[in-house]
Amino acid sequence: MAATTVPALKLNNGVEMPALGLGVFQTPPDETRDAVRAALDAGYRHIDTAAAYGNEREVGDAVRASGLDRSDVFLETKIWISDFGYDETLHGFEKSADKLGVEQIDLLILHQGLPSAFDRTLEAYRALETLLADGKVRAIGVSNFMVEHLERLLDRASVVPAVNQIEQHPYFSQADVQAFGEQHGILAQAWSPIGGITFYRDSGHTSALQDRVIDRIAEAHGKSPAQVMLRWGLEHGRSVIPKSTKAQRIAENFDVFDFELSADEMTAIDGLDTGRRGGPEPGAITLETFGMAIPEA
Ligand code: NDP
Repeated sequence: MAATTVPALKLNNGVEMPALGLGVFQTPPDETRDAVRAALDAGYRHIDTAAAYGNEREVGDAVRASGLDRSDVFLETKIWISDFGYDETLHGFEKSADKLGVEQIDLLILHQGLPSAFDRTLEAYRALETLLADGKVRAIGVSNFMVEHLERLLDRASVVPAVNQIEQHPYFSQADVQAFGEQHGILAQAWSPIGGITFYRDSGHTSALQDRVIDRIAEAHGKSPAQVMLRWGLEHGRSVIPKSTKAQRIAENFDVFDFELSADEMTAIDGLDTGRRGGPEPGAITLETFGMAIPEA
């Protein structure tokens, strides 16, 4: 039985989403069931996967095996760019829903914009709007959209995205993108919320998990650096989706609802921003470089 209840964030259409979820990017399929099960046991009620992660099936298996009601677990997944286009994205939903083994997905988002083929991105988003109108998904959103991409989308969309999932951790916090979203009712959802990016890292890039400022604050609260970073993200009003495959860390990352950071501590962590992203440049995503096919269910 879970000891803690995760607080909810209200999306712009009234749907409630647990503020903290488990991310499963780079979680191998054969470790996904155990990771999701450990998260559900620890009290998580939100899992963030993606068609491109290759583990939607195992996420669905773990949720069913937990014995929890389907309605108790918030399932979020993402349409990959190779499935962009109106009909393609409708089919992308079918593939993800079938692999997850669900009728309805709680939050379906576009994994990236395709700035070089933005009309295709807009057609994909129009398909999300149809899925929302048809009750196939409870909320829709985007990921890795910068302000200019949000502006272009808002210009044409009928439904304001509920969420923009972006890289946000103490070394790269994208306050401008979050602020623009807030003005329009778009919730920021932090990926790599403990700075755990393991790709695109150059040799000079150190991990926020070893940062001295964060470490000092963690010691003062009797918490770990990961817990401090998650708390910092939550106190900035973001949804956070830390990933781990280890039951102990999964539980640790959930144990962040019994302390608060002071204004000075928040400011000190804000001051760590390097302005350098760890992940790929959203404007440079093309089908040619990132267009892998998503298998049928
Ligand atoms: P995170 O910031 O969640 O860090 C994960 C890394 O930190 C892993 O190496 C993990 O290792 C390690 N770790 C986890 N907990 C702890 C802890 N308490 N102490 C020390 N180390 C820890 O990075 P991710 O890049 O995984 O991002 C989280 C989620 O965000 C993804 O899983 C995915 O759902 C989403 N995401 C979305 C992207 C997008 O483009 N929309 C891009 C990247 C991520 P271990 O597993 O061994 O514990």
